[in-house]
Amino acid sequence: MEEIETPLCSCCGRVISPDDNAVHFSCPSCGEITIWRCEQCRKFTNNYKCVKCGFEGP
Ligand SMILES: [Zn+2]
Ligand SMILES: [Zn+2]
Repeated sequence: MEEIETPLCSCCGRVISPDDNAVHFSCPSCGEITIWRCEQCRKFTNNYKCVKCGFEGP
């Protein structure tokens, strides 16, 4: 099985393209989920939510 090939933004749910200025990091709470954040959501500092533990952060 492939790893994540087209990541989805954890804030708005849109597909993140390779040329997007997106960031990704492990969930600060459980560390098991990779949170993705698209350029738009970085700009507007939208909250993300971990799908595993429900952790929400800016
Ligand atoms: Zn987004
Ligand atoms: Zn988590």
